[in-house]
Order: sequence, then structure tokens, then C-alpha cells
Amino acid sequence: MKFILKQRTFFLLTACFLVAASLYLLLSGAADPATPDHGPFTSDEQAVERSFDMIRPETRIEKHIFLHPKTPKPGDFLVLEAGPLGSGFEPELDFDFSGEISNFYRTGNLLFAVIGICYDTEPGRYKISVENSLTRDNKNNLEAVVEVSGKEFQESRFSMPAGITEGWDPERLAREREMIREAMAETVAYPLWVQRFINPLEEGRVTSEFGVIRIIDGNPPRRHDGIDLAADEGTPIIAPNRGIVRLADSLLAGGKTVIIDHGLDLSSSYMHLDSLAVEEGEIVERGQLLGTVGMTGYATGPHLHWEVNIGQSPVNPKQILDNDLLWIPPGYVERKLTAGD
Ligand SMILES: [Zn+2]
Repeated sequence: MKFILKQRTFFLLTACFLVAASLYLLLSGAADPATPDHGPFTSDEQAVERSFDMIRPETRIEKHIFLHPKTPKPGDFLVLEAGPLGSGFEPELDFDFSGEISNFYRTGNLLFAVIGICYDTEPGRYKISVENSLTRDNKNNLEAVVEVSGKEFQESRFSMPAGITEGWDPERLAREREMIREAMAETVAYPLWVQRFINPLEEGRVTSEFGVIRIIDGNPPRRHDGIDLAADEGTPIIAPNRGIVRLADSLLAGGKTVIIDHGLDLSSSYMHLDSLAVEEGEIVERGQLLGTVGMTGYATGPHLHWEVNIGQSPVNPKQILDNDLLWIPPGYVERKLTAGD
């Protein structure tokens, strides 16, 4: 299957270009560099950068396309950098594996994207390409091969207590599924995160891994779209990074639920909470309290169901703790950020 994405509406190309151009001036030292309140690097990020052997100047002249990780597993996300892009031309990003294309982000003459790879992707070599024009007559298309490795997902059979879903209104369930879908679709076209991601529930004990094939009460198998972390009721849950709260509500299946948009189609979700400490539209900072561990909704014991999605594609939440996202420079456009963005 082939997916094509033009950057959504490529909104206000001119404005984006002006922002990119002024960023370039800022970063190249031609303008006052004091504006970003957190630089692109902290010392620990520099250490991470070295360990990844990354080369990340803000503007590169030579044609390139970098992928990280180089051999992703099904259920991973892939971080892409490509360039140089022509100014004033809309690139197109294509790939031929089953997954979700993110919005992409442009800084200087570079394109960045986060791409979710579905957990049911077959191992193999897949093509990824960026159709790119430097000038009207000069195409500078970029291509790379993604090698998706194999991964075994465990199977788990269990029962839920009789009557746990009793009285649930199917229409309300469908409406809430749509609310979740919409919350995950709402995003800004630049990264909101700052520095590395942190664990939202450090003391949590993993009771169900991401991607597990679950057979509940003998029903057809379903994948576990997140990771379950058990902890005492009332244990604080914190935001792993900066973002905008797109949903904070009490749902039938999810119980008390929070969904945070971190930008570039990357969202993180928190379910079965006992209490909510944030509201929809609010900007949360890295480490900010989101709520507390509970067992609301479809749950039998106190735990956090933690989910990370690229668009509608669930990916392994553990990967966002692996610093892969530091590959992408922070969104300097954050200075424009206001609640409800
Ligand atoms: Zn779960």
C-alpha cells in the first residue's frame, strides 16, 4: 500500500518560509540568538547526540536522507531527516509499508518527520522517498530503504469479571471512540517537546507490554495498544514532556483519560486515572502532574494504561524514552503557542 501526504494544507507556505528563514538567521548567528529560552541542546542532549553519532547542523548543503533507528521493529516509530529542500516547493513523502505518516516539519532547508510503523508490518525492506524540487526544473528526489526487522509479540488469555461492561451504552462508546480519534488527530506541525522524554510513572510495574495479542473471555484476539503500569491508587502521573491537552474527560472504557499532543502527530494517552489534574486546551510542561493512578473504566486493578500514537497508529511507548526524538530540533515556533492552538 502506498501513502502520500502533502503537508496538511502546507499551511501558509509563505509564513512558514518566513519563520524558517528567520530561524535560519537566528541559528546561523546573523540575528540575536537570545530568543529561544531553551537552546537546541543541553549538555545531556549533547551526550546523547554523540552516542547516536548524529550530524545535525541546522542547514545541510549535501543531499541526504537519514533514518533513525536504522532497522526498526514493527510497532516502532521512525524519525526521518531529509534535505536540502527547495524553498517555496511543497515536498511529498511516500512509503510503502503499513503505517502512519506524520505531519512533517521544516527547519532551515531540512525536513523532519516521525512515522509510526504498525505492529502487524511484515519484516522486510521498504522504500521511503521524498519528492523534492530545488527549483521548478530541478528535481532533487531523495530515497532510502527501511529494513523492518521481525518481532514476536506475546499472546495473553484472560477473563474480565462478569458484568464489568454492564449498562454501557453502545452509542456512547462509539461517540467516545470518535472523541479519542479526533483528539489524536489534532496536532501542531512542529515539535512541542523539550529535551528528552521522561517516564510518566517511574514507580510503575509493567503488567502488560505493548502489542501483546490479547484474547479476553475467548473473544477474537485484539492488540494491546499501550503498556500497563501498575502502581498504588493515588500515585502521581506526570507529563513525559511538553504538549497541549487535547482530551481530559471521564470515558466508559478508558475511565478518566488524558490525551496530550506533543506536536508532529505524536500524542500520548493516560487511562483509568483516579483523578484528573489538567483540562482540555491547557499547555502542560514536562513533569507536570496530569492526575493520579486509579482503576476507572475497563480495569480490574489500579494501573496506568499508557499509550503513544503517531496519528492513529499506536507505537511502543518505551521508545519515546529512548531519546530518539532528540534527533528532531525543538520547535522554535513555540513562542507563538497559545492555549487552544
Ligand atoms: Zn492497557
